[in-house]
Amino acid sequence: MMPDLGDERLPDDVPEDHPRAASLRVRHQIIEGLKTHVVTEAGLIAHGRGEAFDYLIGEKTPAFALKAIDAACASLLIAEHPIISVNGNVAALVPNEIVLLSKTSGAKLEINLFYRKRERELAIEEVLKKAGAKLILGVHDQTEIDHLSSKRRIVDPEGIARADVVLVPLEDGDRTEALKKAQKKVIAIDLNPMSRTAQHADITIVDNLIRCIPLMIQRIDYLKKKTRQDLQDIVRKFDNKENLALAINFMRSYLELIARNL
Ligand code: ATP
Ligand code: MG
Repeated sequence: MMPDLGDERLPDDVPEDHPRAASLRVRHQIIEGLKTHVVTEAGLIAHGRGEAFDYLIGEKTPAFALKAIDAACASLLIAEHPIISVNGNVAALVPNEIVLLSKTSGAKLEINLFYRKRERELAIEEVLKKAGAKLILGVHDQTEIDHLSSKRRIVDPEGIARADVVLVPLEDGDRTEALKKAQKKVIAIDLNPMSRTAQHADITIVDNLIRCIPLMIQRIDYLKKKTRQDLQDIVRKFDNKENLALAINFMRSYLELIARNL
């Protein structure tokens, strides 16, 4: 049974001048997603972990994340068969933006869930359709990738199964490793630079997907005008380990600054 979340939690009840209004609104989006079976209870917890790490970068997109965003966008543009993997939190938080990113980058959308139930697949498909998606993979024919026991191993033969580049916003570390073993290039969006996902991906964008997806749409539009050689250079020059170290050092400096100003 779904929990009774009560009317007092509706977004309209968040006053404009509340110091955490933006964050509370986002929480409401996730809670709404829970009501419509798009999000799971575990998705709420994952969101909370993300919020905590967002505090450590001042809830703003830092320069190192912009660099990773460019490498990610360039990789999507030069890929032969790029796929955007969509889970419940993504569908609840950025439905319109993820569809727009798919259209502008040419990467197809595939629903891929850790807690996979037909009801959830259909709820997420509905959200994406409402947001304007025409083709949604992951809900019909299915095959499996090796090295993974969770239900995230189930993939679309036309999608992740034959993808060369996979964008995985909010991923579980197990599948990131399995995708790597399957020779895919993995782009992760993860606020925690220490997660297995962040560490194993080829390109990790340490940023909130709410800020990051709109930025990716802008950058794809800009990078589309570049030559293939330019795009390859951007990807070649990007070093994920170096970028993760920048993220961790940024968080440490940010904490030191706060401690100094107490
Ligand atoms: P891993 O399995 O990769 O080791 P984990 O088990 O610590 O990571 P999961 O619950 O598997 O974490 O994945 C959720 C991840 O998504 C967390 O690292 C969290 O920081 C991140 N996350 C949650 N919400 C957002 C968001 N809005 N934007 C970006 N990242 C987010
Ligand atoms: Mg995990």
